[in-house]
Order: sequence, then C-alpha cells, then structure tokens
Amino acid sequence: MVSVIICKHCKSNNNYKKGFRRTEFRGKIQKYYCKTCHKFFTNDDGFYRMRNNPGIITMSIDMYVSNLSSRKMRNQLKRHLNYKISHISILDWVRRYALRVSRFVERLGYNLGESFYADETVIFREGKQDKFWCCLDWDTRLITGFHYSLSANPTQAQEFLKKAISKGKPKYIQTDAGVFYPRAFKKLFYSNKLSGLTIEHKIQNYQTTHIHNYRIETVFMKIKDRVLDFRGLKALWSAPILMTAIVIQHNFIENHSTTDEVPCDSANADLNLSENRWLDLIHLSANK
Ligand SMILES: [Zn+2]
Repeated sequence: MVSVIICKHCKSNNNYKKGFRRTEFRGKIQKYYCKTCHKFFTNDDGFYRMRNNPGIITMSIDMYVSNLSSRKMRNQLKRHLNYKISHISILDWVRRYALRVSRFVERLGYNLGESFYADETVIFREGKQDKFWCCLDWDTRLITGFHYSLSANPTQAQEFLKKAISKGKPKYIQTDAGVFYPRAFKKLFYSNKLSGLTIEHKIQNYQTTHIHNYRIETVFMKIKDRVLDFRGLKALWSAPILMTAIVIQHNFIENHSTTDEVPCDSANADLNLSENRWLDLIHLSANK
C-alpha cells in the first residue's frame, strides 16, 4: 500500500517529514512541512479527529459486519480490553466508514468473467418488505453491483441491472423467474439504449425445472444470513448503508470459502491490502 502525501493547504506533494504531533487517542502523528507553501500539516489517515483508536474501530466494524451485534461488540470491548464505548458509536463507525470506503472502491477497475448471477432478498424493516438486489460474477465471486429498493418492479430491476454491469460486461446474467426481469432486460439490452449492448438473459425457473443452482445459492445464503441477524436495520436511511458494509466485507475482506481467495484479489483489483484489510481500505479512502 503506497500513497503520496499531499499538502492539505495547497495540494502540493513537495514536502518532508518534520516532527510529530501528540494526540490523546491516536498516539504520535507524523507532521509534514510543505516546501511549496511553507506550512506544517498532518496527513489525514482516515481517522482525523476520531476519538478512538483505529485498531478498535476497525476490529469493531469487521466483527459487527461479520456477525456480532453492536451491543455484543460493546460488551466484548468492555470485558476483554476494558474499553468503554456505546453500541451506537459502533454503528456510527460502521456507517461512516462503509460510506467512505464505498466511494473509494466504486472507482476501482476489475477483471470479471462472462457469467453473472442475480438474486433478490426480502429485507424486513419496520413491518415492511424491502428488497436487496445483488449480482455476482461467477469467476471471482465478486459482487458486481447491488441495489436497495422498497418494492420489486421492472423499473427497480432496471436500476439494479445498470449497477450490475457497471464494472464488467458479461455474456449472460442468470436470474430466477421473477416477473419483473424480462421487461427490464428488454428495455435495457434490446432497445439500443445502451449503445447496442446485448446481454443474454438466462432464467432459472425452479418450479418447472426443479433444478437448483446450489453453488451460487450458498453465496447468496451467506449474505441473507447476515441480513436476518441484523438488529440495526431499523431506519430506512440506515439500512442501505449497512448493506453496503456487507458488500464491502464480501468483496474486500473475507476469503471466499470455495475459491479461498478474497473476491477483489481474484478480480485483480491490485490493492495490496495487509492483514487488517478494513484499516488499509480506510487509509486508502482518506483524502480521496
Ligand atoms: Zn502546501
């Protein structure tokens, strides 16, 4: 992970290390002297003005997204590290950094395969049934795009499909027999709207073929399991952000069980992340 230090006053990269600033929560922070505008500055490593230790923050995010409730995470920090923090702070960290990292990874390029699989999951939120749409590249298991909506209809399916193919152009996308898909495909891919781009629509109809695609379903099951466990999906503003965190965890943090690789590495995203992947992603997202 290499990054260029840029002066926050004048954006010049002509600077050198000069002394340290002591901080209460993050220890010693490197200071820089800018040779262009002759001012001192510190580099925002993603945790500027945070009142907690980056290691605690990234561990909490990682464990919350991988399956621990924010209250349980709070209790663990107190019991094992004598660290006192509210469970709301943990949720705030997850949402703050999921948004920031997602803005950064949105601009990355990937090498993806030719077969995409799309699926929708119901998300129960305050008595309503929201939809989480998710598309996966079979070769890398990378989630190529996702979409959050209040209902399932052809318009929402179109919005979803546009996001699904923003990072790669598959030969086909396989879906279930959802009634909203055929119209969405027709509108998007067979009416020259996307400059003549054609993507085949394969339909897997379980009712008529009785064939399940178990391998692809295990991938979606992992995501669905995590959604069911979420206690924080209460508010509409919060739910899509937490889903974003799940997608980041899947694409950039955890090894996939059958490929034994993290999907972003399989897709050659070239990030060179070290062991604490959330920490590195947050560093990379800073100042971007
Ligand atoms: Zn400067």
